Amino acid sequence: MARFLRATRAEGPGERTAVWVQGCQIRCPGCFNPHLWSFRGGERVTPAHLARRVLDAGTDGLTLLGGEPFDQAAALAAVAAEVRDAGRSVMTFTGYTTGQLARAVDSGRDDVAALLAATDLLVAGPFRADRLDRNRPWVGSTNQEFVLLNDRFPGLLDEVSRSPDRIEVTVDPAGRVEVNGWAEVDALDALLASVGRQQHVARARRAPRAPQDYSVSHESVGS
Ligand code: SF4
Repeated sequence: MARFLRATRAEGPGERTAVWVQGCQIRCPGCFNPHLWSFRGGERVTPAHLARRVLDAGTDGLTLLGGEPFDQAAALAAVAAEVRDAGRSVMTFTGYTTGQLARAVDSGRDDVAALLAATDLLVAGPFRADRLDRNRPWVGSTNQEFVLLNDRFPGLLDEVSRSPDRIEVTVDPAGRVEVNGWAEVDALDALLASVGRQQHVARARRAPRAPQDYSVSHESVGS
């Protein structure tokens, strides 16, 4: 796991716990989180431990970002299933397209199928720096798709079309600044310059890492 954010309103509908996983094989040009591409680093956590932290946060649900969640789908499917069993929702970001995921499932990737089965709202597609999305919340580029995998979020697609994007800025008592959500680099830099120098920026739509030696094979979903 690269980052754990107990509660945020900038990474999906409602108040959510966000987990950025470490490791991404997709490597989109212009990615805001290239520090999350490597599968080395981050905090090693078991699926059971991570699920407990998410549930203890007491939010509406879990958002998985990256890094690439489907590059370690088996472990994250276990986390997501526990969260869902407790009545919370799961939103998963992926840089893979829906077609790539479908082909992976057809080819027998049970780990991919399991993470899809434990996800309510999927946001699919690679980040395209030449197609910045300045209208919809949460996503970085216009090619990225919102896919409702069940009826957990009725009306969400209409809501998305009316909702502005947002970022969330947290300043702790020591003056440390953390940012999450989505903003273009220039706007983000201007904002951070206005709030001071002691900044730790966790920019991002997908930041993160993941973990495990457990069931993590880091197997690419492929093309
Ligand atoms: S935008 Fe997401 S899918 Fe693309 S390289 Fe970055 S972490 Fe990977």
